[in-house]
Amino acid sequence: MTDALDLIRPEIRSLGAYAVPDARGLIKLDAMENPYAWPDGMRDEWLAELRDEALNRYPEPAPALLRDALRASVGLGSDTGILLGNGSDELIQMLALALRRDRAVLAPVPTFVMYDLISRIVGLPFVGVPLRPDFGLDREALLTAIRRERPGLVFLAYPNNPTGNLFDEASVLEIIRAAPGWVVVDEAYFPFARRSFIPYLREYPNLLVLRTLSKEGLAGLRLGFLVGPAALIAELDKVRLPYNINRLTQRSVAFALRHSALFAAQAARVVAERERVAQALAARPGLRVFPSDANFILFQAAGADVVWAHLRAARVLIKNMAGSGLPGYLRVTIGTPAENDAFLAALPPGLAGALAHA
Ligand SMILES: *Cc1c(COP(=O)(O)O)cnc(C)c1O
Repeated sequence: MTDALDLIRPEIRSLGAYAVPDARGLIKLDAMENPYAWPDGMRDEWLAELRDEALNRYPEPAPALLRDALRASVGLGSDTGILLGNGSDELIQMLALALRRDRAVLAPVPTFVMYDLISRIVGLPFVGVPLRPDFGLDREALLTAIRRERPGLVFLAYPNNPTGNLFDEASVLEIIRAAPGWVVVDEAYFPFARRSFIPYLREYPNLLVLRTLSKEGLAGLRLGFLVGPAALIAELDKVRLPYNINRLTQRSVAFALRHSALFAAQAARVVAERERVAQALAARPGLRVFPSDANFILFQAAGADVVWAHLRAARVLIKNMAGSGLPGYLRVTIGTPAENDAFLAALPPGLAGALAHA
């Protein structure tokens, strides 16, 4: 018989596994999670609702009330298509699975790694077009690549991860008009940026907008949604596994939508802290801080690996971007004021003044 591992597609064997570091006992500022808890009363109310969930029954496969509530939460009516995913990661996978095999996926890079990873896993070519040195869109390079590659699917993270910036709106619209296929604007960080392409859905039939509840405080539930033209969403829905959103998630999301004011208030606190942390970082020699509209800050550091290890030794976990193709860069998620103070206090004193490309 064939060696069991020889049956794995070579492009899968050559992939590294998606690594999630062990964060037990650490101040966790590496994964863009909301740091705030719920008030006790709200937690009790939630538990009371979950109490009578019939876990012996399959969940609703396409929960109509929940889909309506999510559409309403972004100001859309029932004429717009909506697809729910087990996190927006699953929706990225559904898009890639549904796309014709003879088309490529294209995105400006650096960006969210799952666009590239999922494309490669499903066997689609991924084309990355470098951002400018300030991480803005390189409009000309993108339009040229779109003409050359004719991609079936373009991803634009707005704001972008890991850079934190919002791309220029006029350039994004130009890309939507120039693209011969679907353009997905991924608004994972909408709660912090409050800027959206949802109003353009009516105008552009190739536009889809991706949202998630993860970054505003429900990362553990796994709920993302994709909105766009109803006919296109109906086709994408065919690759969805029937019970992809479990009962506890459906019930908890409906509950959370009724408490959206709490999440909005928490996001506002995160944004205020982001400005405070950005200013504190900018005042440090040896660091170069990039402006952010999200709940994290990207910065370049002289001796970034040493800075990361120093923080880790002080039990503060941030993201070293060296493993994601950005050596010399670190990304810190905004936590509570106390967590942010711990991060700032744990930065090594006397960072070297010289930055490679500052
Ligand atoms: C975090 C993130 C996601 C993933 O969200 P999930 O809904 O938790 O899967 C999607 N897109 C971008 C740009 C992200 O940063």
